[in-house]
Amino acid sequence: MTDTSNPDHTLPSHFIRHMIDHDLASGKHDGRVQTRFPPEPNGFLHIGHAKSICLNFGLAEQYQGACNMRFDDTNPEKESQEFIDAIKADVNWLGFKWHGEVRYTSAYFQQLFDFALQLIRNGKAYVCSLTPEQAREYRGSLTEPGRNSPYRERSFEENLELFLRMQKGEFADGEHSLRAKIDMSSPNINMRDPIIYRIRNVEHHQTGDYWKVYPMYDYAHCISDALEHITHSLCTLEFEDHRPLYDWILNNLTLDSLKNACLELGNLPDDINYVLPEQTEFARLNINYNVMSKRKLKELVELGLVNGWDDPRMPTLSGLRRRGFTPASIRRFCDIIGMSRSESIVDVGMLEHCIREDLDEHSARAMCVLRPLKVTLINFTDEQAQTLSLPRHPKRDIGNRQIQFGPTLYIDETDFEQTPPPGYKRLSPGDEVRLRGAYVIKCEDVIRDQNGKVIELLCSLDPATLGQNPQGRKVKGVIHWVPAEGALRAEVRIYDRLFNNANPDDKALGDFKNSLNPDSLQVLTDCLVEPSLASAAAEESFQFEREGYFCVDRFDSRPDALVFNRTVSLRDSWTKTNG
Ligand code: ATP
Ligand code: MG
Repeated sequence: MTDTSNPDHTLPSHFIRHMIDHDLASGKHDGRVQTRFPPEPNGFLHIGHAKSICLNFGLAEQYQGACNMRFDDTNPEKESQEFIDAIKADVNWLGFKWHGEVRYTSAYFQQLFDFALQLIRNGKAYVCSLTPEQAREYRGSLTEPGRNSPYRERSFEENLELFLRMQKGEFADGEHSLRAKIDMSSPNINMRDPIIYRIRNVEHHQTGDYWKVYPMYDYAHCISDALEHITHSLCTLEFEDHRPLYDWILNNLTLDSLKNACLELGNLPDDINYVLPEQTEFARLNINYNVMSKRKLKELVELGLVNGWDDPRMPTLSGLRRRGFTPASIRRFCDIIGMSRSESIVDVGMLEHCIREDLDEHSARAMCVLRPLKVTLINFTDEQAQTLSLPRHPKRDIGNRQIQFGPTLYIDETDFEQTPPPGYKRLSPGDEVRLRGAYVIKCEDVIRDQNGKVIELLCSLDPATLGQNPQGRKVKGVIHWVPAEGALRAEVRIYDRLFNNANPDDKALGDFKNSLNPDSLQVLTDCLVEPSLASAAAEESFQFEREGYFCVDRFDSRPDALVFNRTVSLRDSWTKTNG
């Protein structure tokens, strides 16, 4: 999928890039690329937002344009400063830089209000006093046209007076609304005199209690784009049917008034020609075994079904971060999923593949025993103890780690079988196995507690096997281990998919919460890690040999009480079927 007009062939090419190439070639939009990322601060960002972030900020980078960060904060009841802070942190973490200061739609409330007055003055908007139920009834349906509101022909003076009184706080929520006067018989319901302002007697996190009327998204968004002289306003497909409204609003305001408002805001550099923004839609990202709606994610948080927005099982960016995903892996994922105009569901295996690929290359190797089983070497003494040096990475030269090897060590319980099934390659009575980076040992005896549970293995060590097999000797298995001396206790959190159904949104399954996986978190508290991990930093990732990729929990881990989160297992299901 390389495009000859694309100067950087490593970057994905798609219909939006083709459109921009075309726009630039024809001189449209004054030859500029100005995008924006417009989250509503009513929740944390999820991986779906990353697609939009990578697109908007990515295009700005690729075309030497600019991308604004704008909080679409027109819904004060649902928004908060906590969400604003989290969203900024996530975008920074992904490695993108917004153009200038962070922007807020609320910073344009005065201009938006003035434009509403302009529409009223021009007979393009009216105050409607239908109750919400009546308004719904008048709106019609997909098959039936709507009917004109009895308030549609109010005089300009009456509209103006009512709207000003709405803003003064003289009415209750829902008593009146301001509607655009478009066409109640339009086949597009969005064009049937949509509400552009509603009364909300609430405090706003940015503007306090000044405003009593708040603009609707469809009205505020296009004007905000215009006030920031955005050229390409990119959004998801559900807004396709809103595009005629986007254009209608801008076309019913004069270009001069928009330009003047930009100047008033100090938002119009001398060197650009003012042009109206245009909206283009792309398909949202959906991933199987996940839900991607903020409303549903919020429900999981509020019901305590996960441990907050940044629970490592959540598809939020802060959850993925805490799980051990890197910004590079998420950006890579957003590159390879592509950009199209048809809805599809991406296999979660592809996301896991991206992080595996990144961690395989960049993370150091280490050993961690999740369920320790003591091994005593019967022919090895404290005096013979030695320090082994193991590479931190099998392919890249990032140094070595030192591990003390003495007569007592721990292996994983699951690496021992009393009666091994055929083809078993690990340890069993009378059999041999290699300890990773050390010697071959043989299980000579088994010690059990009163209940018959195996609590210790007595093994012999073959001193001729350090790092290599003697000629003609085949040892089938290699297992990981940690020395008793210097090993550190750790808590390890093993995460699995949050949902055990591929499509938790499937209506046939009832509520999406029915698909929650009851075993999505397993906490192992008595794990042992090799001593070199004493200096592991918060968020540092490791491949624990044979167990998977793990990272140091950024909040809960302390040097004397390490906590690791499993990012992914080692097995890559996606490459196998698609690679
Ligand atoms: P949700 O539907 O999850 O509640 P939203 O669309 O209401 O999300 P916004 O904060 O309004 O969330 O989204 C900011 C931007 O991110 C919008 O431009 C939106 O189109 C885009 N976006 C949201 N979800 C996705 C997704 N799943 N895939 C791609 N882009 C998305
Ligand atoms: Mg939205």
